[in-house]
Amino acid sequence: MNETYEALTRASERTLSPENAKKLGQFFRGFTPAACPLLLLDYDGTLAPFHVDRFQAAPWPDVRDLLQHIQNQKKTRMVVITGRPADEIAPLLGLNAPLEVWGLHGFERLYPDGRREQEHLPDAVDRQLDKLRAQLDRDSFGGLFESKPNAAVVHWRGATPAQAAHIEQHTCALFEPAAQIPGFRLLPFECGLELRAGRDKGAAVELLMAETVAHAPAAYLGDDLTDETAFRAIEDRGLSVLVRKEWRETAADVWLKPPEELKVFLQNWANAAERSESLSPLVP
Ligand SMILES: [Mg+2]
Repeated sequence: MNETYEALTRASERTLSPENAKKLGQFFRGFTPAACPLLLLDYDGTLAPFHVDRFQAAPWPDVRDLLQHIQNQKKTRMVVITGRPADEIAPLLGLNAPLEVWGLHGFERLYPDGRREQEHLPDAVDRQLDKLRAQLDRDSFGGLFESKPNAAVVHWRGATPAQAAHIEQHTCALFEPAAQIPGFRLLPFECGLELRAGRDKGAAVELLMAETVAHAPAAYLGDDLTDETAFRAIEDRGLSVLVRKEWRETAADVWLKPPEELKVFLQNWANAAERSESLSPLVP
């Protein structure tokens, strides 16, 4: 049994399966001085527990310190890919230096130096979204309506089961016809439904991988159904990690229970990056 495998098993209090620990051990042994590793992270449910007030969703205890340690090492390219607007991540994470964030599932890209790129949507798609926004502003069926530049979202986190069923039924009835229009996609997630246009997280991961040397270690960590496209996008080139208290069907390679196993993963990442003495991160 090698050192990494032992550390993973011990520190996770034996909740990590031997099979998962072995895969992770193999992954971390792949860190080499020749390539800057790429750490791709979802935020809500992955780095931070859910909070009904999403502006109060702080990272799991110790996770911020571990991410700060990885950032201080300057050996990893760390990127957050989130369904939130990109600007919301830095204040919640509270890291000393800005990091790259892809917001709105990949629709917008915020570079560490403050540059910003947005995907362009066809006018017809914009017009349809405006119609739905006006409708949901008037009545969101008891759910929380969130307007995004590329999407309309209805949330029902915190609702009773009966209320949730009511909100979901009416939201589906509103969104499903619009989802048939070319350019739109329906995106179910835990306690909500999003009708969106443009890139998804999988497309964001593909773009990032295309910028990364082929032999660089890369991992994507996510919890939700919206992360499945990202898991599939990285499958030939890196490690996909489902971070979640309960297991579910997934395309991910391994499953980690937060926060303990997530912390062990990040500590092992920092150790592997330190040992690899890799080159400075590439700046896009
Ligand atoms: Mg999430």
